[in-house]
Amino acid sequence: MKLLVVEDEVKLAEYLRQGLSEEGFAVDVAHNGIDGLHLAVETDYDVMVLDRMLPGIDGLSLLLALRRSKSTPVLMLSARQQIDDRVEGLRAGADDYLIKPFGFSELVARLHALVRRAQKPAADPLDPTRLYLGDLSLDLLRRRAARAGQRLMLTTKELQLLELFLRRQGEVLSRTEIAERVWDMNFDGGTNVIDVAVRRLRIKLDDPFDRPLLHTVRGIGYVLEEQSR
Ligand code: CA
Repeated sequence: MKLLVVEDEVKLAEYLRQGLSEEGFAVDVAHNGIDGLHLAVETDYDVMVLDRMLPGIDGLSLLLALRRSKSTPVLMLSARQQIDDRVEGLRAGADDYLIKPFGFSELVARLHALVRRAQKPAADPLDPTRLYLGDLSLDLLRRRAARAGQRLMLTTKELQLLELFLRRQGEVLSRTEIAERVWDMNFDGGTNVIDVAVRRLRIKLDDPFDRPLLHTVRGIGYVLEEQSR
């Protein structure tokens, strides 16, 4: 698996190069945004670790530029703690986010999850009428959802909500976006329609099973994914 690290702190960059090589990644390193963007556009990487604050071009601008031509999964590193920064990073097209200092094993687990997600499309190309995530499936023609072989009895709205989450699996969806796409309405911060609907869906989707799939991302929204932690 080819991986690009864009990190200007030379010690951290070298630590990542060595550690991730030992984990079996073929690692390239760039120490500034300009070299990083050049490499990221020219080379097909399986996954990329991108620092937020970089000389030359900062991490967010690099990501915005990269997204014009490539969908390489990106894990963004940030020294800042603010949720705003996370939101900015995710909006710019980051697939995941880690705050420094982070644990190396967590970084590795998240990188593997990003690569897996990129390799496994939600829709089966042989059967475009079904969406999948792990043991969860949604039959789009018959409007039926099942998990671990058990049918889930969902309302029409819950099916629409699940379809949105499955199509955008691994992506954090804001309440605003959910409201627009499922209810065709502008989200009014004063209403808890979305939270109530997500809670109801979760009772059917996750409560009877060991591994939850629908997760709350505090201050941002919700994400449907298999988490390795
Ligand atoms: Ca930096």
